[in-house]
Order: sequence, then C-alpha cells, then structure tokens
Amino acid sequence: MATAPTLKMTAEIAQQIRQHGAETYPHECCGALLGRDGADGDVATAGGVQLPLREVKGLYPLTNRREDSPHNRFSVTAEDVRDAEKAAREKKLEVVGWYHSHPDHPARPSEYDREHAWPWYSYVIVSVANGKPAEMTSWRLSDDRSEYACEEIAIRDRAAKL
Ligand SMILES: [Zn+2]
Repeated sequence: MATAPTLKMTAEIAQQIRQHGAETYPHECCGALLGRDGADGDVATAGGVQLPLREVKGLYPLTNRREDSPHNRFSVTAEDVRDAEKAAREKKLEVVGWYHSHPDHPARPSEYDREHAWPWYSYVIVSVANGKPAEMTSWRLSDDRSEYACEEIAIRDRAAKL
C-alpha cells in the first residue's frame, strides 16, 4: 500500500513559522526545519494506514540573502546549510527541511522553488497576505525530481504526549 509522508509539528512551531513570515513581510522569510526523520521506524497510524513520520522539533531562521529580489526568491546557500546542520547537531537533531514565506501569493511552490529544491527535504511554504499569515503547506521533491508533491502537515497540541 502506498504511504503518504506526513510532517508533524507542534502548534507552537507552526506559529513561529507564521510569525517569521509576518515579521519579514513584504519580503520572504526563510529558515531550516530541525527535527527527526521517520526513516528509523517511527510511524504514525491514520485510518489503519501506517505513514512515515517526520517531526519538526525546532527552527533555525535564516537571513534571505537574495538582496536583488527578496520578495520572491527564496534560496539556501551552502553556508546556510552548514550553519543549519551545525545548529541541528547541537540539539541532537537533523535538518529535515526548509521553510519560506510567499508574501501576497498562495502557499504553492513557484517554478523557481521546484527547480531549486533538493529531494528528501520537506519544504514548508506559508502564505502571508497583507502582512497576515494564512495557509501553510509542505512539499517534497521525488528522488528523480519528476514530482513535487504536497505532504500533509500534522499539527499536534503542545500539551499532547510525544
Ligand atoms: Zn517560494
């Protein structure tokens, strides 16, 4: 049976991503998602189906270095990757993805986003309309780069048990 990837995060982390998008508006915000990947056997059961589980445990906000067009060009540099991986290691986590905002645009990946994505990582996009955070989605590029598919975001209550 086909399994759909799911990205899990607390309401608090979801709020931090939205907040970052509101703060940098009308420019894009971006950052790294630090967490754990379900490849080690963690699964979530939904409707009797076991789903690979990836969980975001923290964020590493980045500075959008695209000075030329900071409102619609999200890019992660090699230096960003190194810094984010270092921050993750210090928390005994790994970089499981990246997030950025779409000021006054829907939470859908642009052609640019798809072309600059790497397989495996989760790409969270939050739409910020008139300075207010709106829809949030997550995407994953297939290993052969042919498909950029939406993955479900499961937001769990902060008080819920891990
Ligand atoms: Zn984008």
